[in-house]
Amino acid sequence: MRVLVTGGAGFVGSHLCERLIAEGHHVLCIDDLSTGSRANVAHLLDHERFTLFVHDVTEPYFAPADRIYNLACPASPIHYQVDPIKTVSTNVQGAIHGLRLAQRTGARFLQASTSEVYGDPDVHPQVESYHGNVNPIGPRACYDEGKRCAETLCFDFHRQAQVDIRVARIFNTYGPRMAANDGRVVSNFIVQALRGEPLTIYGEGQQTRSFCYVDDLVDGLVRLMEHPTEVGPINLGNPGEFTIRELAEQVLALTGAGNALVHRPLPADDPKQRQPDITRARTTLGFEPKVPLAEGLKRTVAYFRDRL
Ligand code: NAD
Ligand code: UDP
Repeated sequence: MRVLVTGGAGFVGSHLCERLIAEGHHVLCIDDLSTGSRANVAHLLDHERFTLFVHDVTEPYFAPADRIYNLACPASPIHYQVDPIKTVSTNVQGAIHGLRLAQRTGARFLQASTSEVYGDPDVHPQVESYHGNVNPIGPRACYDEGKRCAETLCFDFHRQAQVDIRVARIFNTYGPRMAANDGRVVSNFIVQALRGEPLTIYGEGQQTRSFCYVDDLVDGLVRLMEHPTEVGPINLGNPGEFTIRELAEQVLALTGAGNALVHRPLPADDPKQRQPDITRARTTLGFEPKVPLAEGLKRTVAYFRDRL
């Protein structure tokens, strides 16, 4: 198949492109290289079935496609808050351009949505039927509401124009090829541990997250895309739930570093707890995360050790 991956030079996108190439598809990666990099796909650039098109998805584009994975969007709070207007535009305009392309070509369209659509949730663990608790005017809103609107667009194109859609709600995912300056917690802690710097815990570190290794997530995305009828929204993630302090302790144990832990202010609207209910993904997609946190962290530490 001809598969288009927007954001394909990013952390998750590069692993997805690699998987799709290995499955024998032709892959067109569209990326403006704002938070992704050519280095993430360097090993694919010479492949005859891989093309990198440097382009901003807020501008229209055309390419023949059977499948469109829409991942283009900065995912780390520090990056998506640099230019929040652009973040909204990337989510909304980017989704419209991808969905129009799907409408014209008949391609199936998968939206990389997020657990952030649940905001600071008062239902725990989060099930797909929960409509969330998002502050629409806070500093995270450009991302959270942008992603919520992208979901709306998917379902409106589906109902109004019969576009074949898939919506995945991705929970915190980590692994090799996160950028060292990404700013998300797993890469921050590992980079800090390896550099001998104190690990920065925001707030008391009692907030929780559920961390999914990137290979497991990519498997879920492909399963959803290729499912004949399931459109979602469907949670994809690893339900193992850890406090941020526990994560810091695991990273220190794995790196053998004796770094200090320092506390920094908790960012505004930081969700207190986050755990996916993946019953639906398990039953309809046969999705099952296989890589436990300790093993995934070990692989990610090895990646950063090589690079730093
Ligand atoms: P990332 O920042 O590494 O990847 C995003 C990619 O999109 C980058 O390559 C970037 O250059 C590209 N991009 C950004 N704006 C663009 C634009 N206007 N035009 C073209 N390309 C653009 O982040 P990631 O973790 O790989 O996230 C990939 C997708 O998955 C994002 O949509 C993100 O919202 C979603 N997601 C990720 C997680 C996670 O924990 N990693 C969780 C939930 C959702
Ligand atoms: N966090 C932290 N130290 C860091 C980076 C993040 O304590 O150096 C916290 C952050 O406040 C949040 C959690 O870790 O509670 C996950 O943050 P991340 O930015 O990785 O993802 P998100 O908040 O979008 O789930």
